[in-house]
Amino acid sequence: MQLLLDRIKRDGKIRKGNVLKVDSFLNHQMDIKLFSAIGEEFQRRFADEHITKILTIEASGIGIACITAQFFDVPVVFAKKQQSKNIDGGVYTSKVESFTHGRVYDIIVAKEYLAPEDRVLIIDDFLANGSALLGLSQLVLDSGATLVGAGIVIEKGFQTGGELVRGRGIRVESLAVIDSMTENSISFR
Ligand code: 5GP
Repeated sequence: MQLLLDRIKRDGKIRKGNVLKVDSFLNHQMDIKLFSAIGEEFQRRFADEHITKILTIEASGIGIACITAQFFDVPVVFAKKQQSKNIDGGVYTSKVESFTHGRVYDIIVAKEYLAPEDRVLIIDDFLANGSALLGLSQLVLDSGATLVGAGIVIEKGFQTGGELVRGRGIRVESLAVIDSMTENSISFR
């Protein structure tokens, strides 16, 4: 998706530890026109899949998931990062290791929001080592719903996540795949 590649090249900032900061358009300030183009592209790629629900993880996946959901006309469920007293009844839970913060945390979704008849598309901003995506896909598996695939805005192709997740038979569609990053250059696949 050329629009996205150009924007990453122009505004992305490379930080220590293979972290790409895209705070000016994706992770802090959000460019809604770009989000619309992203949502439309996900819809085009998964058009025939009869998606009934979009699943993401708080916080940075939520904005993209919501704009994308408008193109599918389906609800968004976001996995919460810790147990909340406000959730009644059972929850599905799994563990995710944070790439950016390096710690392990639980993610939860209330059982009432994922049902066996759902066809779920996972949306997230980044794919690095794959922990977030595998944690989310575990929630879908536990619910008995069908995992149709995952739409990722930026995949860091030089990290292990893409291979790991695709190796489990999960369809992953990434709109930008980074092959390599150095202090002042990014190359895309
Ligand atoms: P993974 O679980 O695949 O290792 O990492 C994915 C999660 O970590 C994403 O939800 C994203 O929030 C965060 N993440 C991973 N790599 C980066 C990065 O280079 N930049 C930013 N801004 N977030 C990242």
